[in-house]
Amino acid sequence: MARRRRPTQRQREIITERAEACCEYCKTPLVLANVENFELEHIEPVVSGGLTVLENLALSCPGCNDIKQV
Ligand SMILES: [Zn+2]
Repeated sequence: MARRRRPTQRQREIITERAEACCEYCKTPLVLANVENFELEHIEPVVSGGLTVLENLALSCPGCNDIKQV
């Protein structure tokens, strides 16, 4: 079951900056996509014990987000 913890606005800002506003998987720039559709992904899923911390979050476009959720 998806027990998802939402990153804070501050975490979102820091990670967007760290990723240089690109998807951290495929490097699609945020400006080419609807920014609202970019998600902060848990690299290690929350259900597997992953924490909502900067080290465990990655900026992801909808395409990469979908692939990871399969
Ligand atoms: Zn991507």
